[in-house]
Amino acid sequence: MMLVIYNLLLMPHIWHSWQTSTHIMKRLSAQDYVNGILESNRFVLSRAITLVESNRDSDSELAQTVLETLAQKKVKNSIRIGITGSPGVGKSTFIETFGLHLVGLGKKVAVLAIDPSSQRTGGSIMGDKTRMEQLVKQPNAYVRPSASGNTLGGVAKKTREAILLCEYANYDVIIVETVGVGQSEVAVKEMTDFFLLLMLAGAGDELQGIKKGIMEMTDAIAITKADGENIRKAKKAGGEYTGALHLFPSNKSGWYPKVLTCSAIEQTGIAEIWELIESFKIKMTENHFFSQNRSNQNLHWLHETIRQKLLHNFYSDQIVKKALKANETAVKSGEKSAYKVALELLKLAK
Ligand code: GDP
Repeated sequence: MMLVIYNLLLMPHIWHSWQTSTHIMKRLSAQDYVNGILESNRFVLSRAITLVESNRDSDSELAQTVLETLAQKKVKNSIRIGITGSPGVGKSTFIETFGLHLVGLGKKVAVLAIDPSSQRTGGSIMGDKTRMEQLVKQPNAYVRPSASGNTLGGVAKKTREAILLCEYANYDVIIVETVGVGQSEVAVKEMTDFFLLLMLAGAGDELQGIKKGIMEMTDAIAITKADGENIRKAKKAGGEYTGALHLFPSNKSGWYPKVLTCSAIEQTGIAEIWELIESFKIKMTENHFFSQNRSNQNLHWLHETIRQKLLHNFYSDQIVKKALKANETAVKSGEKSAYKVALELLKLAK
């Protein structure tokens, strides 16, 4: 019995829900968080991520103190991998197999998720099913269910801070997963080093269906479920995607996106994907793009945070709220110009 409870608590998602549904946890100090994270304690890491996800002002302050203290420590050389693909393409299964492969190589692997569906519906495309059952049991893996929030910007900020916490907790590979709908890919691209797109062979007209923007963002495409009768189709699709990628101008890093096939269930092509990511990291380190990209991302997040804060302050201002409500009908009917009202409201905000 004790063993069962112990095993359950080792699963971060169960630990997380248990912890948030009970209030028996003692409040940790900033130093407790810092020490626990540096010791790679998954329970403390989970609580620290909950802290950065919290919208309470007192939690935000504590979270910032923790992050600032940790910022003085040197972190390990990590790689942040963004993974996207439509629902059903095989993301969870792939990440489970890929994660287990990495753990087998002695890596510490963290998986974080951005699920845009949870903002609109309160439900989730990714979070509702039991995911990555084997991976969550590994002592060297940490799987975090998707952060929730009202805006993609808010969720993205939380995920970015969660990445940093995982790195301070000594994780080598940070996987950020998102569903291939909406704008979340762009946010994930802005917080990762390598962007992997999972695609299915034979899901309609291959090349028509791909959003151009996503193709331009990818460092590699992996055609999933290349097993059984699907192998031939997957190889053919691989050739087509390779051809299509050549139509795009070369990436400013000098990296040419590659197309691979894999089967998460038969565990084929998985090692090759990791080898590709490793060769990417070596090349991008040699030409300094790796660190330049991270520096540019830091700058991006500076501006993004300012934008988020300004928006939040504006919309939570009581005077603005009232004035906005009072003017909405007139703007809708065209009686007042949207532009003029916007300027008036902006002047009202403190
Ligand atoms: P997600 O929605 O993108 O996370 O997709 P899932 O990982 O949940 O997979 C969707 C379905 O595809 C499940 O029924 C999986 O069993 C199946 N699947 C995933 N990977 C493979 C694979 O490599 N080969 C085969 N044949 N099926 C797979």
